[in-house]
Amino acid sequence: MKLRLLASTLERDGSASGRQHYSCFVIDGCVAIDAGSLATSVTSDERNEIRDVVLTHAHLDHIAGLPLFIDDLFPILKKPVRVYATREVIDVLETHIFNWAVYPRFSEIKNSHGEVIEYVEIENSEFYVRHLKLQPVAVNHKVPSTGFIFSDEKSTVAVSGDTAEMGEFWDVVNKIEKLDALLIECAFPDEFEELSSISRHLTPAKLKTEIGKLKHSDCPIYVINLKPSYRDAIVSQLEKLSVSHLQLLEVGREYHF
Ligand SMILES: [Zn+2]
Repeated sequence: MKLRLLASTLERDGSASGRQHYSCFVIDGCVAIDAGSLATSVTSDERNEIRDVVLTHAHLDHIAGLPLFIDDLFPILKKPVRVYATREVIDVLETHIFNWAVYPRFSEIKNSHGEVIEYVEIENSEFYVRHLKLQPVAVNHKVPSTGFIFSDEKSTVAVSGDTAEMGEFWDVVNKIEKLDALLIECAFPDEFEELSSISRHLTPAKLKTEIGKLKHSDCPIYVINLKPSYRDAIVSQLEKLSVSHLQLLEVGREYHF
């Protein structure tokens, strides 16, 4: 399985900056998990291939690219872009984003081939997207949010999305026979403990407690969703945790699991 966190911004030489404003992971070049930088950072091959977008929640940094992606594809879509999300997230998109005031309500308009967006409501049970099996698990964020465990025939990866301390997520993850990677958020440095609690995010200290709940002791752990303003402080605090199999997920790099 190939996984890449799309770039949010670029360095002067055109390479991906480590600063992550948006969240959008592309799996095997054809499935997107979250859509923050989907319209602006996909390759042309990915633009042609991706027709399935799985959303963790409706915060702007996770959905910003979705309206622009559908807009960009509007003339050429032969089938709708399928958006997999919980009922709560779909309602937020339709009420606050695709409402004509912020952007067109694509669910009401068609191109020459037909519909351009199709919502697929997810509940607690596993579902399939292309060749991937996804198990959704509710996590603990300020708004309804979902983590996912996704597998192809060879590998299984878990992603927390935005979250604070979790319970059920660990129960599900610990039942997996072989976990190849865990992607977990760490949005704020330790000095923002109060803000992290209010906004339901993790800090390095809280992350350490969380990964103590993981039973797959050798599984590589990749930290994601660091607020760019606090990146250096978070990185330095993560290093001090001295967890050997913990590392940052590099923006723009293609990982093979
Ligand atoms: Zn969020």
